Amino acid sequence: MRTESSKEGSERFIVTIIRKDAALVARLRKGLLDWYDGQGRDLAWRRGERDPYRVWLSEVMLQQTTVPHATPYYEKFLSLWPTVRDLAAADDARVMAEWAGLGYYARARRLLECARAVVREHGGEFPRSEAELLALPGFGPYTAAAVAAIAFGEAANVVDGNVERVMTRLYAIETPLPAGRAAVRDVAAQWIAAERSGDWPQALMDLASLICRPRAPQCLLCPLAEACEARPLGDPERFPVKLAKPPKPRRFGTAYILRLGEAIIVEQRPDKGLLGGMLGLPHSEWREKPDEARPPLDGDWRDLGAYQHVFTHFALTQNVRLRDVTQAEADELLRARNDWRWLPLTEARSLPTVFAKALTLMKP
Ligand code: SF4
Repeated sequence: MRTESSKEGSERFIVTIIRKDAALVARLRKGLLDWYDGQGRDLAWRRGERDPYRVWLSEVMLQQTTVPHATPYYEKFLSLWPTVRDLAAADDARVMAEWAGLGYYARARRLLECARAVVREHGGEFPRSEAELLALPGFGPYTAAAVAAIAFGEAANVVDGNVERVMTRLYAIETPLPAGRAAVRDVAAQWIAAERSGDWPQALMDLASLICRPRAPQCLLCPLAEACEARPLGDPERFPVKLAKPPKPRRFGTAYILRLGEAIIVEQRPDKGLLGGMLGLPHSEWREKPDEARPPLDGDWRDLGAYQHVFTHFALTQNVRLRDVTQAEADELLRARNDWRWLPLTEARSLPTVFAKALTLMKP
């Protein structure tokens, strides 16, 4: 037994967590691995040999999206860049364009940085230990532990939101996250063992995805139910406990679609800052209050409506305006702005989601 004390904002939480009997943990651990052998998910990155490049790529993609959404991106990346050396040699803009739709472009930039560091500093082979992996660009504690465990069989403690959900339920941890994370890591470590150390995090992830789901967990089917403390309390969905988040601040802006036939004008965004280095639609400054911005060209603009987009730090309400331009107007605009260029509408998929949404308001 141990007492956990942690602080969240102005509140201090003191929670007693009772560790589980080692023999029970060993027996249920085996039970979960047996369940995983029979009913685990067939995922693209689990097929074939365990290749650290594939494990890493899938883990980075899965940090921000779901398995069904990430799978086609994963397969496309592997077909374009089958090895870490291929990715390291890739054109930055092409990688960014292929990443569009996966969100958080900073992560794609770190992906490239990391691939290049693996080639430059490790001869094209990922280092094998959690500690060495953690030193690579873009590797946080979760990714380092996941690659070390899944690709190299290190008995690493892999803790993400899924594992947090299972562990906070198994031990009925009342400390709200994120303050309760140290307690979660501590109890998760009780289940780590050398045997099948690479399968264990994957079995836990599958349990979290198929059985111990955020809503309506299937406790009757759960191989860990015997040790679960949340279940007898009658409301396992209550875990993990989270403090209410303050609402995100809202900003307002207008995106401009300048169209000539089947092409539109896009801008190359500055390397630094939000959506750095990506293509985007010209838009007004995103401000805290709606205001009438001056469009990049006078004339007959059509209002197409507005849409919502949520960034990490703010929510955006964006109006969309369309103007069909003549060749002469476009030539003048492109002469004045060397960061603007044409993009065929057939390549609109390469735009970040916040701008791709604007194009969906255009009638065919
Ligand atoms: S018994 Fe239910 S709540 Fe507990 S770990 Fe299993 S699925 Fe989750």
